[in-house]
Order: sequence, then structure tokens, then C-alpha cells
Amino acid sequence: MEFIPLMKPNISEEDIEETCRVLRSGMLIQGKEVEALEMNFKMYNNIQHAVAASNGTATLHLALLALGIGKNDEVIIPAFSYIATANVVELAGATPVFVDIDIDTFNIDTAKIEQAITKKTKAIIPVHEFGLAADMAPVIKIAKAHKLYIIEDAACALGATDNGQYTGTFGDAGSFSLHPRKAITSGEGGMLVTNNEMLAAKFRVLRNHGIEIVNGKMEFVEAGFNYRMTDFQAALVNSQFKRMNAGLQYKQQFAEIYFKEITSSLVKLPAVPAGKTHSWQTFHVVLDDAVNRDEIILKLKDAGVGTNYGAQCMPYMQYYQQKYKLNCSLLFPNALKAYKQGLALPLYEKLTGDDIKNISRIVNQIL
Ligand SMILES: *Cc1c(COP(=O)(O)O)cnc(C)c1O
Repeated sequence: MEFIPLMKPNISEEDIEETCRVLRSGMLIQGKEVEALEMNFKMYNNIQHAVAASNGTATLHLALLALGIGKNDEVIIPAFSYIATANVVELAGATPVFVDIDIDTFNIDTAKIEQAITKKTKAIIPVHEFGLAADMAPVIKIAKAHKLYIIEDAACALGATDNGQYTGTFGDAGSFSLHPRKAITSGEGGMLVTNNEMLAAKFRVLRNHGIEIVNGKMEFVEAGFNYRMTDFQAALVNSQFKRMNAGLQYKQQFAEIYFKEITSSLVKLPAVPAGKTHSWQTFHVVLDDAVNRDEIILKLKDAGVGTNYGAQCMPYMQYYQQKYKLNCSLLFPNALKAYKQGLALPLYEKLTGDDIKNISRIVNQIL
């Protein structure tokens, strides 16, 4: 068996040809292809505004700044996510307030949000971790009651739904990533979506050096960023958009094979609660406490299967540990467990059903 890496993006010859077409045109920076990508996101997610940016961290950063979140503000985030979710809150000058997760779904434990709210709380960032929607109904209820903004970190969750509605479209803003580990990729890239026109306009200004066209004249109205996406990157991902749904279907089938074939009692499979569809950006399991996860990663590698831990217990990472000194085993036991015992298995379009069966067999053998 050939070594199976944890992830391989699905780039076709047609995708490459589309990218080259834009390269040959000489029109490289944000232009028609970026506009077309924004249109693709609007149509797909059924939302009014989409603003492309250089990556999915930049989009989160733009959302916080456009909503005026900064110094002396607190933002509630799950303790378990990719580190960017916490970093952007720090970069905006605000304070991240961590809330533990549900160990079955890896999403924020909504029963623990209210106790984290203070007078300084301005926003909640629910993360749709690994492509499974967070419980949006309670998040929306709490946000309304306490007048908080909702910024969805849907970096992993393009195509996932909660009660038939696409993730990223519930809150004030939704942020997607187009990194190669995600469903479709522009190399680096991100997308912000919103139904709020004023907010979308603000994203555009902040994305592009603070430039606004006022009475046909270019004005510099903010100290903005250069968070633009290039047009050839947009062409690369526009081409993949055509097989978005086919890709989601493949991955759903593969996930079902894992559910059937992984039988080791030392492996806890992920939950998919009723009413939600998973986009399977990551198939993430939790290993029994009796097992040394890092040793298992090495054994799986020797057996030809690339795996890795899934995401960080963010307050446990050095910068946050030194700054906030939070007792993670006491405050965030589930996030810490998911970080220490979690394992991401290969699941992507380039695999076959037989690959998934082989991986399952090897997992069962080693565990
Ligand atoms: C990938 C990811 C990000 C960051 O996206 P980039 O495009 O890599 O900057 C943020 N949050 C989560 C949950 C992610 O998985």
C-alpha cells in the first residue's frame, strides 16, 4: 500500500488550466475572478454579500474590526479550535474568553456560554469545528438577550448545514477559509459573508488599504490592510466550485465507511446530531485515555497512514498559558482531552472507499 497522507487537495488539470488562463492574461490581482468567486459564495450559501480576502484568518480579523471590537472588549470563543480563532481576538486588541466544548461534537458547549458573559462581552465566535455546525439556536438566543454580535468561524464548514441553513449565514458575519486543508482551495484564501450591507462595505474598505470611492473620487477613509486575494487564486477555486457538492457527497460516503469499519473500543467516533449535515473537513476521533495518542500517530505512520492531532486547546498553548494562566484541566477538560487524545484521519476526495477500509483495518489492528 502506498503511503496515505492526512490530506491531499483535489486539483484537476482543468483547475490548473483555469489558473494559467488568468496568469496568461496578466491581470493578477483582485478583479473579475474574485468577483465571480464572491458571486459563487453568495449563490451557494444564499446570502447577500460575500467579500474575498487573503486567508481565513484575515477574514476573521476584518469581521472583528468592522464590528468595532477592540480594546477593553471581550469575545467568547470555544477553548478548542485552530489557534487562529483566538489569535484574531488578540490581534484586534480584545480579550478572548474561552468556553469548554462538548466532547461528542467538538463544538462550544452552549450551556456554558452565559456564565462567561460580562459587561465587557461584545461578541461570540462559534466555531463549526471540523465541518459540523455548532448549535446555532442557543447561540442566537443568548446573543440576542445580551446584545452580542455573532461571528461564525466557518473555516472548515463550507457546505455544512444546521436545520437546512448553511453555516456562516446565521450570524452578523461568517468566515470561511480556502486553505488546502479545507473543502476547496485557492492555496491561501478566505471569504466573509454577511446580510448586512454596511458591514460588507466596511469589509471591502478595510480589505483594500482603507480605500472608499466617494463621489467618484478615491478617498483613504481608514488605516486599512492589504488583505486582497489574487485573481489567479480565485480562478483556481472557482474551477473547483463546480464539483463542491460532488465532493461533499464523496466525503459523506467515506465517513459512513469509517463509521461501519472502525470497531476498536478504544476509538470514540464523532457525533453528528440530528438536523445537521457534516462537511467532513476532518474525520476526528478521540482515543481512550489509556492510549498514548502520539505513539499511535507514529505507529500509523509506519503502517502507511498519515494522521495528526485535530486542533488546539488554545488556552493551553504557550502564549495564552503565559498571558492568562488558566487552569485548563479544571476549566476546559473536554477541550484538553480533544487536544491530547484527538486524532484526525484521512478523508478527502482523492481517496477511494478501499483506502478508507484499509485505514480502518489498520486503525483496528493498532488499537
Ligand atoms: C483553517 C482555520 C482557520 C484559518 O484559516 P486560514 O485560511 O488558514 O487563515 C481559522 N479557524 C479555523 C477553525 C480553521 O480551521
